[in-house]
Parts: sequence; C-alpha cells; structure tokens
Amino acid sequence: MKEDPIKIGISTCLLGKKVRWDGNHKHDRFLTDTLGQYVDYVPVCPEMECGMGVPREPVRLVGDPFAPRLMTIRTHKDFTGQMKAWAGKRLLELEKENLCGYIFKCDSPSSGMIHVKVYGEDGKSARKVGVGIFARMFMDHFPRIPVEDDCRLHDIKIRENFIERIFMLKKWRELLKTGKTLGGLADFHTRQKLLVLAHSETHYREMGRTVAEGKKMPVDKLFDTYEHLMSDALKLRNHA
Ligand code: SF4
Repeated sequence: MKEDPIKIGISTCLLGKKVRWDGNHKHDRFLTDTLGQYVDYVPVCPEMECGMGVPREPVRLVGDPFAPRLMTIRTHKDFTGQMKAWAGKRLLELEKENLCGYIFKCDSPSSGMIHVKVYGEDGKSARKVGVGIFARMFMDHFPRIPVEDDCRLHDIKIRENFIERIFMLKKWRELLKTGKTLGGLADFHTRQKLLVLAHSETHYREMGRTVAEGKKMPVDKLFDTYEHLMSDALKLRNHA
C-alpha cells in the first residue's frame, strides 16, 4: 500500500510568506529546506485567515492569562470573538488533513504555544505566561498531535524528539489504515520497542500489558488506550 505524505501544520510566516502584521515574514530555512524535504506542510495564518488583513495593526494578549483577549495595541480593538469563530471552523477543516504534527511561530499572540506575553489591563505590565488564541484551541482540539515552535526547534534534543514523534504518529496512522487487529498492534509494539523504551520503560511495560490483555476489551478502546500511552511516552525523556 502506498504511503501518504507526512502532513505537518505550520504557521504560514515560517515558510517565508509575507503574512505578518507588517507585511513581512519569518522564514525558517531549517523548516523549509531540511525538514521540508520529508514532509508536506499545511500552512495556517490565523490573523490573515480570520480576516484581519495584511498589513494590519499588531495585536497582543490582554487580561486573564487563562482566557486572554486578542487586542490591537493602539486602537484597542478586540479580535477575540472573530479569531475564535474562524478557528472553530478551521480546526474542523484540519481534521481532514490527518496532520502528524504542527509547528507554531513562537511568541505570537495567535500562534504561540508557550510563554506568550499577556499584558495587564493597564497595557503596561506583561508576563510571559500565555498561549496564543489559535494555538490553545488547536492543542485542545488535537491533544495527541505533536506540537513545537520554531524557537524551541533550534534546540537539537527538542528537534530530535519532535521528529521522532511525528514519524511515530505517521507509522501509527499507517497501521490504522490497514485495520485495527490485535495481531497488527502486537507487531507494531514489537517493532517500536526500542524507540518507546528510549523514552519511558514504564510506559513501554504498560503498553505491553495493554496489548497482552487486548482480547478483553473492544478493539476501538484497545487502540485508543495504546495510542494515549504512546503519545504520553514519547513526550518523556528516559533518564534511567
Ligand atoms: S505568527 Fe501566526 S498569525 Fe502571525 S503571521 Fe505568523 S502565522 Fe500569521
């Protein structure tokens, strides 16, 4: 059976497209010239696609760090509702893409996945405790899809881990395409032994137990349990 390409969602500006608020881009050569040889990118620019235009007034997160608002800096226009309404529809479209990973633009109030500045209501004090509005919705919607940002991917260990996770998810998806059988799962578990062990022996043992007791549960639950354990395992580093 022919393998589908590995599809990775990505913040459009990282591909060199001029979609940023100032009409510029944030081209990342590693992502386009190196990783790009092995994956097909699905570009997403939340601010442009939700109708804010290019160029546009820059925005930032304001208020409650757990439920911030997306506000323009100078005119204080609130784009939170517009962004969330668009994102809800875009996430449903992305379900059809079968993404194996997503690369966010760091620090962005829309696309940043971690440590995004959230300003107080006074607009002066800021803490790096937020998550971009679209990134938050994406991670809630697809909790098992590996995510990273361009800044973190400069760290070689984080980069290796991310690449391992997307390739593992791809192999998992290929297994699902062949149908959910206990034999197929047992074979997958054997073939991925070393990779999972490199991350977590505890999870590897638990995954093995799940396979061994596979006949006792419905096949959908079996595969869901295994996928959940695998996803958690690969986020860990084994320090043993
Ligand atoms: S960071 Fe996100 S919203 Fe901003 S230009 Fe890049 S893709 Fe668009």
